[in-house]
Parts: sequence; C-alpha cells; structure tokens
Amino acid sequence: MEIQFGIQNENINSYNMRRQIMKLCNIKPFFSCCYCGIKFNNTLYGIQHNETILLCCQLCYIVTNFSHLHSSMTMIGTSQLSQKEINKRTVEYVRKNKICPSIIEIDGEAKPLNLKPSKFFNDTQQFHNAKVFFNNNIDISALFYKEKQDNDLFDEIEENTIDIHQQRKTETTERITKWTNKNNQLMQSVKILENHLFL
Ligand SMILES: [Zn+2]
Repeated sequence: MEIQFGIQNENINSYNMRRQIMKLCNIKPFFSCCYCGIKFNNTLYGIQHNETILLCCQLCYIVTNFSHLHSSMTMIGTSQLSQKEINKRTVEYVRKNKICPSIIEIDGEAKPLNLKPSKFFNDTQQFHNAKVFFNNNIDISALFYKEKQDNDLFDEIEENTIDIHQQRKTETTERITKWTNKNNQLMQSVKILENHLFL
C-alpha cells in the first residue's frame, strides 16, 4: 500500500478501538507499518481493511488521515522525494538524534512552503511536488524501536499507553479549568458593569 494523501479510512478514534489495536501489538510486539514498512514496537493507529486492522505508524497515519489535530505537527514543503521516503528519513533521524529533523535535514533541495497543512490537504493535487514534513510536536517516543524478545515489552507498552492517556486527561482537565476560571472572571466583570449601569 503506497502512501497517498488524504485517504478516507474508517476513523479509529475510540479508546476501545485503540485498546484493540494495542492488543494486536501485544500479540506481536514488532510490527511493520502497512505504508512505510518500517518496524515499530507500538502504535495507536490502524487502518480498517475489510475484516482486519492493518497497523500503521504515527507519521503514515497523519499523512493518510490528516485532521485539524495534526496541524501543529506538520509543515508543508516542496520536495522531489516521495512521501514514503520523507517518512522513512524522519523515523531514521529521530531514532538517531532523538529530535525531529528540519525540512532541510530531510532533503537539502526541499523548500518550505508558507502553506497551512489544512489548506494543502483540502486539495493535494493543486500543489505540485508539495509534501508533508513533521516537527517536534509529534510523539517522538512512538517512533523508537527496541528489539526485545521477552515479555517485558508487553508490560512496557501497556504502562506507556496508560501514562499517555493519563497525561492527556490531565492536560484536558487543566485546560477546562483555565477556561472556566477565565469565563467566571468575565461573568464577574459583566455583573459589575451591569450593576454599575442599572443602579
Ligand atoms: Zn509508516
């Protein structure tokens, strides 16, 4: 399966579906991404294909199922390289340097485009040779690969996933609290103003 932009696959967003994918990973802790073919230990992404779920890596998932959630993780640039090659080089670079490469580090000939990723994904055909590059907002830890034969890996995968979920939950709660406080402050101001005006 070649990477194509914006393939509309069944959305696998629910926690249960993710758990199911994790279970699949647990049965076989090393899987190859169905798009780029690179080996990974762990993924939260899968593509529904007939009756089965094909596992894919984070980068290929973003490219094939782009949503506004991925805007901050991606940049658009022109490059002669295939999208598959860009994804491969990104994974290799991250594994070696523990950070995401810049566009130039992936392809010396590439040129960044001042183009919103969402605009690009609206009509990929319109932008000749435009490709997707990634930045440090991706989950870099999901790209590492550890060759391990024992069962410890299963527990590690399980623990890491729970951690990530807990972290996201906490972040969301914090954001909601922040906005509620702001809103309360605003309502107070409105009340003061109302009292002032109608006294
Ligand atoms: Zn991949």
